[in-house]
Amino acid sequence: MVKILVFALGACLGSFISALMARRRLGMSIIKPNSFCESCGQRIRTYDLIPIVSFIILKGRCRFCKSKISYKTFLTEILGGLLFLISFNIYEGFRALVLGLGLIIGLLIALTDHEYMEIYDIDCYILIGIGVLYRLIYLGFSFRFFKILLIFTLVFLLIRFLSKGGLGDGDLFFYLGLFLYLETRQLTSLILLSLWIGAIFAIIKSIKIRSLKGEIALCPSIFLAFVFILILG
Ligand SMILES: [Zn+2]
Repeated sequence: MVKILVFALGACLGSFISALMARRRLGMSIIKPNSFCESCGQRIRTYDLIPIVSFIILKGRCRFCKSKISYKTFLTEILGGLLFLISFNIYEGFRALVLGLGLIIGLLIALTDHEYMEIYDIDCYILIGIGVLYRLIYLGFSFRFFKILLIFTLVFLLIRFLSKGGLGDGDLFFYLGLFLYLETRQLTSLILLSLWIGAIFAIIKSIKIRSLKGEIALCPSIFLAFVFILILG
């Protein structure tokens, strides 16, 4: 029962970030107007706004015009639910909640980067803000933590300088934000694993488009590595 509630809460937040991604892209407010069908403009009824459940009941189509609803929203809701389950599997209570929120913001950044090749500063600030709180309460700031942070930042900026723009500031802030949620001994694992995953994605993409020139978004790889390390401990 508790697990269903945890999953539902995560799914609601997944639904929220999915709407946020679409709306801020169009310069729309997240609160107004109410959700509407992108094809026929009909306002979506409140009872059709239940994450995951509504999509299944409506078979992925608008109640009025029967046009297809993006499956991406559905997927984001499931991912949100799963991330909350992961968090509440590892920890409990307030700690699980704060980590869960960090994971949702991380998902938002990874998906935005994947979808639009863009990282919003405000998302990173929120990730870092919650992360500082989390670290202060549960992990603490050690000298070793700052040492790794400093070395990583310098190496990152050096690679960025040499590669002339292959990496963005957003990627750096995303790394630093996620560092806050991990134990100090896990930081190098996050860096190495994310680079491995990124390399695999880059190879798959270059095979797909038959060119070595395609750019890939790094945040999804960083986030995937982060989730792996949380699960494996
Ligand atoms: Zn419609």
